[in-house]
Amino acid sequence: ELARTTHGFVGADLAALAREAAIDAVRRIMPKLDLEARTIPPEVLESLSVERDDFLAALKRVQPSAMREVMVQVPNIGWADIGGLDNAQMKLREGVELPLKDPASFHRLGIRPAKGFLLYGPPGTGKTLLAKAVAKEAEANFISIKSSDLLSKWYGESEQQIAKLFSRARQVAPCVIFIDEIDSLVPARGNSMGEPQVTSRVVNTMLAEMDGMEDMQSIVVIGATNRPALVDPALLRPGRFDELVYVGTPDEAGRAHILGIHTAQMPLEADVDLDRIARQTERFTGADLEDVVRRAGLSAIRKRGSEVSAVTREDFDEALEDSRATVTPEMEEEYARMKGELKRRA
Ligand code: ADP
Repeated sequence: ELARTTHGFVGADLAALAREAAIDAVRRIMPKLDLEARTIPPEVLESLSVERDDFLAALKRVQPSAMREVMVQVPNIGWADIGGLDNAQMKLREGVELPLKDPASFHRLGIRPAKGFLLYGPPGTGKTLLAKAVAKEAEANFISIKSSDLLSKWYGESEQQIAKLFSRARQVAPCVIFIDEIDSLVPARGNSMGEPQVTSRVVNTMLAEMDGMEDMQSIVVIGATNRPALVDPALLRPGRFDELVYVGTPDEAGRAHILGIHTAQMPLEADVDLDRIARQTERFTGADLEDVVRRAGLSAIRKRGSEVSAVTREDFDEALEDSRATVTPEMEEEYARMKGELKRRA
């Protein structure tokens, strides 16, 4: 089993794996093991046996050298760090968090969880945050790639990179694979002059990997895009990215929530009214609001220097003067139109 699950490990990686597993086994018996002391009492050594779980735990920590490019993370962002987006959060809780945490129940009821989710919407609305948060809350690992990096850095090798990505995800499952800018996975010149678009080899490799994912394998792929119109329709067919989740600009309550999150560490003067700021920031994304908070803080430092103790309403007013929503009403309309369009295409 270990030989099968250590694809991409060279000899030195396997040696590290064995060592890490052994350390885990010792720690189970001696939680306070002092590795520096290098002394393990003989009675501990005698009762020591390295178990399957020790190897599985070690497998998640030892990074195989042939897969150095695939970074496994354990995100530290949770639901509490996200404001608004209630609908998207609910869909990800039910569709990703629950099945990853409790696959047995889904199996028992014969429910097949979705393999792929597509988060779409304007930039800075929290798509990456959502993907990280659902991985953290599901106690899953997180592997993320940007499609444009995949195509440029690994030119000609992108298919092998995709294979490595999925292979590593299987090793560290449960795992969320996050593919940002998934619209970029289209052939460079496939759709010019109205020719039908050709599905790229990279997309085909990814689809093959997803088709090959057995149910209950505890891997979920989350794609994100600001340009849903450009996503290869092959990715949207059933069994692939069949859950489409719109991540839009927050409403007033959502904005107040986001402002609260981003000012949590900031001393505020009593005259600062976050609800009022939320009313003044229509169409602002989470990233725009974070920027307002940052500017207000900078304004406070600029004006009061080392005397500064708190950020005032005036600081926020100045920050608001310099800020505007990155999303225009036209963009919102376009996304709303795409919602219907995507459903038809899928
Ligand atoms: P996207 O992936 O949609 O382009 P990100 O998730 O990368 O956007 O958001 C960029 C930054 O903006 C985040 O790191 C966070 O600080 C802030 N942000 C965006 N949306 C939210 C939100 N809903 N709640 C809290 N912070 C947010």
